Amino acid sequence: MKNNWKINTSNPITYSISQIENMFDVDNTGLIDYIGDLKQKKLLVIDVNVATHYFTRITQYFEANNIPYQSVLLDGGECNKSVENLFILLEKMENFGLNRRDISLIGIGGGVVLDLVGLAASMYRRGIPYLRIPTTLLGIVDVSVAAKTGINYMTRRNRLGSYYPPIASLLDTTFLPTLKPIEISSGLGEIIKIGVIADLDLFNILYNFGDILYNNNFNHHTSHEVIHRAISVMKNQLEHNLWETDLKRSMDFGHSFSPIIEMRSLETDDVPSLSHGHAVAIDILFSCCLSYKRGYLTKEDLDKVYETSKKLGLPTDHPMFYDINILWESLSDTVKHRNGNQNLPIPNGLGSHIFLNDVTFDEVITIINIFKDINEK
Ligand code: NAD
Repeated sequence: MKNNWKINTSNPITYSISQIENMFDVDNTGLIDYIGDLKQKKLLVIDVNVATHYFTRITQYFEANNIPYQSVLLDGGECNKSVENLFILLEKMENFGLNRRDISLIGIGGGVVLDLVGLAASMYRRGIPYLRIPTTLLGIVDVSVAAKTGINYMTRRNRLGSYYPPIASLLDTTFLPTLKPIEISSGLGEIIKIGVIADLDLFNILYNFGDILYNNNFNHHTSHEVIHRAISVMKNQLEHNLWETDLKRSMDFGHSFSPIIEMRSLETDDVPSLSHGHAVAIDILFSCCLSYKRGYLTKEDLDKVYETSKKLGLPTDHPMFYDINILWESLSDTVKHRNGNQNLPIPNGLGSHIFLNDVTFDEVITIINIFKDINEK
């Protein structure tokens, strides 16, 4: 008789991504449908800037509906996705006394606050349920769909984290009017990614109406379709690979050269700081130059991506994208993250993609020159 066992189990995952406009209008029952026992006190973890504009609206909703609550405010911004803030939040959760199975934890904010809340939820008592309410455009189209949580650690993005989806992500575009232009374009950076790599119709909407979407804080008759298309593509790409067992991921487009550059830009005084969506957007254009060099994109298509980026208020270059050593360091780190393979998604015509695994140091130097030409024309 051998002492050798195998445990074989499965954990089916279901979560909703639902748009509930004007969620905090006191007579809107959309949120109530998701928060379970209304007598259980809720812990609202709210981004400080969201609280500045919407605290009264949010708390009046809970008061009007007789739902007990307590609130915690956390700062957004990449530098706040830290171990220190994670433990501050966990301490607040412990003092609040969250139950293990009630839906009492609700994150309301951008990707930073939602990533912190998700990671804390996955750790606290080995996992408690939570809800995500994204308040940035990037949060709505990207963070809301994925199962990932995370914080930055030892100068690396999302080095600590978990795959821990919420019970639901609840979307409400009425939070968007108070976003600064840089946050609107940051969200548009993740949306153009999806258009270029996987949805030509979405790309064409951005090409035709991108300037209006950007200038009107995403308020336009195409906004609904843009969100619908972006989330549908993300869902289709992610749901069969939620735990990223397959490291060939089209949604990694724009995330190959940029991760180290994004973090380094925040630590280096003599170059502009890059938001997440802006770092992704520059990587997209750089990767499109690679695609053009390989003959997978025409010059006309490359120019269209450049023009659309401009319309969306996105930066099209950054000093670090001309530095072969940082680019190669970043790509090498990405290769480690992809288990030793480049798995570099690039467009194969607009709206479609292939993966490369043979990009060399010398080729990246050539790409820098194409990238320079397109930015100087
Ligand atoms: P963010 O959370 O830092 O928010 C950007 C800024 O907008 C902050 O200053 C915030 O205070 C402010 N803000 C938020 N909502 C507002 C509102 N309605 N009105 C006014 N100001 C508001 O940044 P982000 O762009 O939302 O998210 C970026 C983060 O998301 C990155 O850390 C990235 O790694 C993460 N992310 C995670 C996933 C995932 O799968 N978990 C996916 C994509 C991105």
